[in-house]
Amino acid sequence: MIFFDKNYYSADFFFKNKFGKKVYKISIDAGFTCPNRDGSISSSGCIFCSPRGSGDFCSSTALSITNQISEGIKKIHAKNTNGLLLPYFQAFTNTYAPVDTLRAMYEEAISYPGAVGVAIATRPDCLSDDVIELLSDLSQRTYVQVELGLQTIHDDIAFFINRGYDLKSFEYNYYRLRKLNVHIVIHQIIGLPGETIDDYKFFIRYISAIKADGIKIQMLHIMKDTLLEQYHIKNPVHCMSINQYIDTVSELLTIIEPGIVIHRLTGDAPWKTLIEPQWSTDKKRILNGIQAKLKLSLNNK
Ligand code: SF4
Repeated sequence: MIFFDKNYYSADFFFKNKFGKKVYKISIDAGFTCPNRDGSISSSGCIFCSPRGSGDFCSSTALSITNQISEGIKKIHAKNTNGLLLPYFQAFTNTYAPVDTLRAMYEEAISYPGAVGVAIATRPDCLSDDVIELLSDLSQRTYVQVELGLQTIHDDIAFFINRGYDLKSFEYNYYRLRKLNVHIVIHQIIGLPGETIDDYKFFIRYISAIKADGIKIQMLHIMKDTLLEQYHIKNPVHCMSINQYIDTVSELLTIIEPGIVIHRLTGDAPWKTLIEPQWSTDKKRILNGIQAKLKLSLNNK
């Protein structure tokens, strides 16, 4: 199946089709924390989680939501001005606050001129009844994308990465969310110690079976000031090569349910704090490599 210039269902295509224009995601750090960081579940967090809770490219929390979006637009406008916006609550757990606080912040984001809706990254165990009600209300008025950082479907690996919830908890909350009109994106990490291509395929088949709307795939990043860095010093983690990553992801794209939107195929890590793999900063090479691989496998069919 060929979508636009890519050989998979890209987020670019999905958004252009839905909103008639390119949509730019603007990352926001709303100043939240995470139950896996504040001591409620644990105080150390997932082993790969950076001190900024995966919000390394967000603007300062000292800025309001509106001002963070304005700052994000300035960065994008250096490259392109003709697009719409999707404010993305990215850092830490973005449903982990009193529901009135969440409502005020989401409303501020969706009322920004050019915003097509809102994207919210969170944990499945942080979807209280109040939050579900809020998301339900929002989703009847605008586009709502909820991102869940599942990363692996194996409970032993989840325990190793200190994710802090099991697959049963994920499934229970996923299906509560599934009843709403929201676009659910699941995150997968390639390269977790102990996992192989069979595990990655299992993950892809799993999210296809539960009818997720989208997926974000990225390589494991070993970053400074994380638990994973400490682990890596004592037990060096084998990182795959760029070609192995390209081959792996290309293979996964050939088995994924065609209706699932591919929101990401690489990861972003600030080069100053990235330890391994250094090749992951070359996003263009990775994406071109995946394209070339997919083209080749289509031509050989
Ligand atoms: S759930 Fe997210 S914010 Fe919380 S520790 Fe894990 S990666 Fe970090």
